[in-house]
Amino acid sequence: MNFTETDEQQALRAAVADLASKYGYGYFTRQARSGGRLTELWQEAAKLGFIGVNLPEDYGGGGAGMYELAIVLEELAAAGCGLLMMVVSPAICGTIIARFGTDEQKQHWLPKIASGSSIMAFGITEPDAGSNSHKLTTVATRDGDTWVLNGRKIYISGVDEAEAVLIVGRTADAKTGKLRPALFVVPTDTPGFTFEPIEMDIVMPEKQYLLFLDDVTLPATALIGDEGAALMQLFAGLNPERIMASAMAIGSSRYALDKAVGYAKERTVWDVPIGAHQGLAHPLAQVKIELELAKLMMQKAATLYDAGDDMAAGEAANMAKYAAAEASVRTVDQAIQSLGGSSMTAEFGLAAMLANVRTTRIAPVSREMILNFVAQYSLGLPKSY
Ligand SMILES: Cc1cc2nc3c(=O)[nH]c(=O)nc-3n(C[C@H](O)[C@H](O)[C@H](O)COP(=O)(O)OP(=O)(O)OC[C@H]3O[C@@H](n4cnc5c(N)ncnc54)[C@H](O)[C@@H]3O)c2cc1C
Repeated sequence: MNFTETDEQQALRAAVADLASKYGYGYFTRQARSGGRLTELWQEAAKLGFIGVNLPEDYGGGGAGMYELAIVLEELAAAGCGLLMMVVSPAICGTIIARFGTDEQKQHWLPKIASGSSIMAFGITEPDAGSNSHKLTTVATRDGDTWVLNGRKIYISGVDEAEAVLIVGRTADAKTGKLRPALFVVPTDTPGFTFEPIEMDIVMPEKQYLLFLDDVTLPATALIGDEGAALMQLFAGLNPERIMASAMAIGSSRYALDKAVGYAKERTVWDVPIGAHQGLAHPLAQVKIELELAKLMMQKAATLYDAGDDMAAGEAANMAKYAAAEASVRTVDQAIQSLGGSSMTAEFGLAAMLANVRTTRIAPVSREMILNFVAQYSLGLPKSY
C-alpha cells in the first residue's frame, strides 16, 4: 500500500488545478445563474486529455483509471468549477461501453466520449423507481432486427448537452420481478424520444430533464452487452459514478474550507482573528479530518476498481459516497458559519454550494440505501426493505 501518488498523478493534479484556476467558482455560478453551460471549460479540459483520462488508449483515451478521473474532477471542484457530466459521460457510460460494448460500439462511441466532443447522459431514475430500481417500467421489446423502447425517466442530467443517453430499461421478457436491466444507447434525436426541463431549485449549470420514450425504435446494435445479465454491467458503471460523486463533493468542500480558513485568518471581530477562537478552529479542524477520511475511502474504492475487484470496490464506493456526502455537508455548513453574513452573499456563493453538496446525500444513491447495503452485505443483517 502506497499513500504517495505517483509523479504522473501529482502532475495531473497540478495541471488540472492550473486549468481550473482560470475558471473558478465565479465562472460556475455566472453560467448557472444565467442559464449557461460550462462548455469552454469542458472543451479545454477535453483538449488537455482530462475528460477521457480513464478510457482505453486504443479508443483515444488516456489509458489511466478511475483514480485519475477522480483526481481530475476533485481538482476542478476544488477550484469551484466541477463538471457534473464527468460523473456520467466518461465514468458511467464510457466505462460500461469500454467493458461490455462490441468493438463496433467502442469504435463508434469511445473516441467521441474520450475527446469530449460528445457527451452521453445516463438515465436510470423513473418517476416511480428512484431508490427502488426493481420497479423500473421502461420496457424494450424486440421487433425483428430492432428494439422498441417505451417509458419515462426523471431527473436526467445534461440531456440538452448530450448526443445520446444510456437508458436503463428491462426487456419485455423480464418485465416484472427482480431487475434484469438492459442498457440501450439512445441518440437524443431519435424519433419518439423527447425531453423537457425540470425547474430545479439548485444553482447548477447542468439541467435536469424528464424524458419520454414513446415507441423509440433502435437498431439491434443499440443494446450494450448482454440483455439478460446486465446487472453486473450496470454496477460496473454505478461504482465509478459513486467514486466520481465523492470526488465532486470532496473537491467542492475543499473549496469551501479554503475560503473559510482564509477568512478566519483575516477577520478580526474582537482583538484577534476569529480563527484564533477554538469555537471556530475546532469545527474547521474536525471537518478537515472528516474530509481526509472520506477522500481516503474514495481513493481505496478507485484503487480497488482499477485493480478489477468489482465486489470490494462496490462496498468501498458506497462507503466513500456516504462519507463524502456527510463530510461535505458538514464542511460547507461550517464554512458558512465561519464567514458569518458574508457567506450568504453572491460573492462567496456558499449558500448555493450547500444545496449542491446536499444533493450528494440523495443522488446518485441515497444515504439510506447505502446504509441498507452496508447493513445487509457488510454486516450480514436481514434485508430490511
Ligand atoms: C441534481 C440531480 C441530478 C440527478 N441526475 C440523475 C441522472 O443523471 N440520471 C439518473 O438516472 N438519475 C439522476 N438523479 C436521480 C437520483 O439518482 C434520485 O433522485 C435518487 O436515486 C433517489 O431517488 P428518488 O428521488 O426517487 O427518491 P425516493 O426513492 O422516492 O426516496 C425518497 C427518500 O426515501 C428514502 N428511502 C427510500 N426507500 C427507503 C428504505 N427502504 N429505507 C430507508 N429510506 C428509504 C430515500 O433514501 C430518500 O431519502 C438526479 C437527481 C438529482 C437531485
